[in-house]
Amino acid sequence: MSVNNRLEAIVKQLQAQPVKGFLAEDEGRALFDAALSVAALAPCLEVGSYCGKSSVFLGVACRARNSFLYALDHHRGSEEHQLGEEYHDKDLYHVADEVIDSFPEFRRTLRRFELENVVIPVVTASAVAATAWSAPLSLVFIDGGHSPAMSMADCISWSKFVIPKGIMAVHDIFERPEEGGQGPFLAVQALLNSGEFTLEDKVMSLGLLRKKG
Ligand code: MG
Repeated sequence: MSVNNRLEAIVKQLQAQPVKGFLAEDEGRALFDAALSVAALAPCLEVGSYCGKSSVFLGVACRARNSFLYALDHHRGSEEHQLGEEYHDKDLYHVADEVIDSFPEFRRTLRRFELENVVIPVVTASAVAATAWSAPLSLVFIDGGHSPAMSMADCISWSKFVIPKGIMAVHDIFERPEEGGQGPFLAVQALLNSGEFTLEDKVMSLGLLRKKG
């Protein structure tokens, strides 16, 4: 099966039985194309895997390039997923332990899409992983904590590992406060102001930035 036919098959599977998450289909397709274009050069990494929706698009592209995806998430949910918050999902709440645990659902997604040998889960906080990290990355997708402080820390710390001509993808960029939180937008502005990245494309709320060569 060609790579594009595989993508269409994946999209159909997701339409028939969705994976929980907030990534639109067109954003998933854009992530797939971006990963396909660079993943042969080095592994990819995403921050904020949740139940694995973006991991499917990125992982299938990585598999086509004999590459790997590091899927980083503490799996305890972001602020908005906590009990009583707007995006709380009771199916992901471990009642006895009184914590969110999205890791079992994430693993189910990897198994369903046959990605267990491509996607490498990293289960800890982004700041901990970034401190321990050393490997170059061809693409980093940022979709973790959305507060200004967390978005900024994620974008700045992980952008250092992106190879020249590699890609930083950032989700939930809203230019105006009435559309959504400003954290990711401000973090992207900081990356562009650094002079190290140029904005290459925007698909819905997904920004694709290219590191200079
Ligand atoms: Mg998002």
